[in-house]
Amino acid sequence: MALGFEEARERVFRNITPLGKERVHITEGLTRVIAEEVIAGRNIPPWDNSAMDGFAVRAADVESAGEDSPVELRVVGDLPAGGRWHGTVGKGEAVRIMTGAPVPDGADSIVRVEDTREITRERIQVLQAGGPGTDLRRAGEDIRAGDTVLTVGTEIRPAEIGMLAALNQSTVPVFLRPRVAFLTTGNELADLGEESGGDRIVSSNTYSLMAQIEEAGGIPENLGIAPDDPAEIRGRLEKGLEADVLLSSAGVSVGEYDFIKDAYQELGIAVHFSRVRMRPGQPLTFGTFQGKPVLGLPGNPVSSMVCFEEFVRPLIRKMVGTARPFRPEVVARAREELKKPRELTHVLRCRLVEKDGEWWAETTGPQGSGILSSMVKANGLMILPEGKSLVQEGEIVRVHPL
Ligand code: AMP
Ligand code: MG
Repeated sequence: MALGFEEARERVFRNITPLGKERVHITEGLTRVIAEEVIAGRNIPPWDNSAMDGFAVRAADVESAGEDSPVELRVVGDLPAGGRWHGTVGKGEAVRIMTGAPVPDGADSIVRVEDTREITRERIQVLQAGGPGTDLRRAGEDIRAGDTVLTVGTEIRPAEIGMLAALNQSTVPVFLRPRVAFLTTGNELADLGEESGGDRIVSSNTYSLMAQIEEAGGIPENLGIAPDDPAEIRGRLEKGLEADVLLSSAGVSVGEYDFIKDAYQELGIAVHFSRVRMRPGQPLTFGTFQGKPVLGLPGNPVSSMVCFEEFVRPLIRKMVGTARPFRPEVVARAREELKKPRELTHVLRCRLVEKDGEWWAETTGPQGSGILSSMVKANGLMILPEGKSLVQEGEIVRVHPL
């Protein structure tokens, strides 16, 4: 049951749907995904307003204004931002106006303060003016009431939050974040701070997974570290099946103490594939339990991270409803010659660097699946597909930026 890399990704992704919706305050909305169309309930801006500090005038009055032929106007009112002036600007009149203040009736353009000379508070000379409409911001020029402002699947960034606030919407409908339970397994593992003696290593996967789940938009639920004990593993995985996604780390290959797949079988988790023609990550196992995705990630720290990034992250992004679950791909040139077995997809840790206006991808050092330092140095994963055994320097490669 070994699948190719792309085929396996597609298989994991296939039947995933968003979970449900909730409403959150916009201050909690950042990185969430819009679950219902947002329709504008008002115009933005709400009224015609001034784009400049200056004077609201009738364009016809000041048509002939110039340095040598100033036009004198009578200032009949003052309009700070947030103010209202309830008269009508008549012939030969002007109202002093600040940026954002509503344009009073009768006026049809703004003269900037820099283009005027003050004689007294009540008398100004206009030295230069544009035609009707100059420096006016029209009601609804940004958004019209009834416009669809945000569509389903939009990721909420600061711009979307600003827009919601401008529309006076304090809450926003978003898709639920999936609960992602994860179990780490291995007799050699200790948790942070409890490492003792010479035979244990810290379960770094616990923390890289937790961070990856959060970054993807899921809610991590740590099932702890299980020893390589079938009953213990089964019990904890069973508990994890209450979550929306269940992940495990290690114990999934063909070693003496690899009990994950047995546990899947005993728990009734249907396994769809248990090997992928890729490196790192060959033992990646995918199953479902009542439609819920269950993934057995390999234990090596880089394998775990790479499998999460390429398989689990898109799955979680699809569950949170985004219109773009995959990271945008970058096309780059290989900085060095790369050799690989033809029958595997290689996922290499690399850095994207710009040279002469093009992206180049260079590997970040040893690519062993336990070498976390080359993962730390990487800002991308270079995907060298099956069917190729040699990539030449300068050849085009695909990179998934991290
Ligand atoms: P396994 O899949 O159990 O054969 O583990 C493969 C390698 O990954 C071994 O060298 C393990 O020590 C290492 N490993 C397994 N789980 C973790 C973990 N949670 N954190 C760091 N390394 C791990
Ligand atoms: Mg193990």
